[in-house]
Amino acid sequence: MGLLARAGAELTANAADADVIVINTCAFIESAQQESVNTILEMARHKTAGRAQKLVVAGCLVERYRNEIQKDIPEVDAVVGTGELEAILAAAGIVPRTPEVPTNDSPFVILTSRAEGDARAAQGRFSRGEWDGAVADLPNYLYDETTPRLLATPKYSAYIKIAEGCDHPCAFCIIPQLRGQFRSRRFESVIAEAERLVASGVREITLIGQDTTCYGEDLGLKDGLALLLERLARIPDVRWVRFLYAYPNKVTTRLLEAIASSEKICSYMDVPLQHAAPEVLKLMKRGAGADIFLKSIAKMRRIVPDITLRTTFIVGFPGETEHNFEELCEFVKAAEFDWLGAFGYSDQEGAQAYALERKLPGREIERRRKQLMQIQKQISKKKKKALVGKEFDLLLEGPSEETDLLWQGRTAMHAPEIDGTVLVNDAPDGIELRAGDFHRCRVTRTHDYDLQVSIL
Ligand code: SF4
Repeated sequence: MGLLARAGAELTANAADADVIVINTCAFIESAQQESVNTILEMARHKTAGRAQKLVVAGCLVERYRNEIQKDIPEVDAVVGTGELEAILAAAGIVPRTPEVPTNDSPFVILTSRAEGDARAAQGRFSRGEWDGAVADLPNYLYDETTPRLLATPKYSAYIKIAEGCDHPCAFCIIPQLRGQFRSRRFESVIAEAERLVASGVREITLIGQDTTCYGEDLGLKDGLALLLERLARIPDVRWVRFLYAYPNKVTTRLLEAIASSEKICSYMDVPLQHAAPEVLKLMKRGAGADIFLKSIAKMRRIVPDITLRTTFIVGFPGETEHNFEELCEFVKAAEFDWLGAFGYSDQEGAQAYALERKLPGREIERRRKQLMQIQKQISKKKKKALVGKEFDLLLEGPSEETDLLWQGRTAMHAPEIDGTVLVNDAPDGIELRAGDFHRCRVTRTHDYDLQVSIL
């Protein structure tokens, strides 16, 4: 969006008003692929019967089905893979306003990112091997602080991608094939981007990447994520910094100490564990098990006493026995996570698990998923209840999505978009509520997942 806007394109979120429609796709699991294809077909109607002149498909689906998209959906004019973001202008048929002189303001400076990716490609880090052959190379693109960017989030909150790709071999996952091998952005590049975002009004930074805890390893940086968090917390106007998607065995003492060391680094850890039965974790090519995880969780709680823990599990992985599932349920009861997401396994062509035997019927997978969520619901209810009367900083987000009589917001226990809701049902007279402002609040009531608070 940043590249297009800087080149002079006027952006609209309303497809019916657009001359060029860009569809950014996901191909992580079957249902996401289906949703992406449905969206392409829906948007194609704007080209056949509406105003749109061009239809561009971008993102992971392109990495996966480049040839098929072009062949089977003739309305699509161009495709842009995850490593070809710079090609978006040509794909959209937009000529940059000031192409002649490559100044710091020119879209062409982002070639630095390309140069960085290419330099690593020359060291042989990126090759697709025997993957479906549709694309010659794995994507190696990395954006940097000079890449123009438009926030799709509210102006007080921004995600920053600190690394791209993944080198882990999880058997259910095709992300490494879609996003390429792990590569970190330069430390200074992330800081420069964060400082610019904060200068424009951002107060909350959420660091993302397929594996944030490996940040810096490929640059020879030890404790890269801890150093990055500490440096970001020193930016004066930053209020909250957090990171998502930690890999379990990469959560080090140093990282936990960094979290504990600063009020601005949210005491929040999102560690997708995927399962707890050692047998299943071995089949998933992830290793470890409930005992190791429980020790690791105890350590997290010891070093960061008020830590909020989020995790994700896949249930119904091929070969998961009733006993394995019971082990997972017992582990969830013992670990008492604050937030938990459970996904039913879905077969993914190209992933190693696709070839595994002992697949479970969809109905059984869904039964197990619901059972696990039911267990978590009770845990969540109990943990939320224990918060009544406690005080927290609250980031106001705007009128409630359910009723415009109330406002809603988030505490440091709530990452953007994924965790429960905090409803504000009382505020001192005369106080002006504005999205993006921070207030002190007290929890007055709790639900299974949500909180009600009064602003103090
Ligand atoms: S660590 Fe995450 S992105 Fe990497 S292979 Fe495993 S599930 Fe996929």
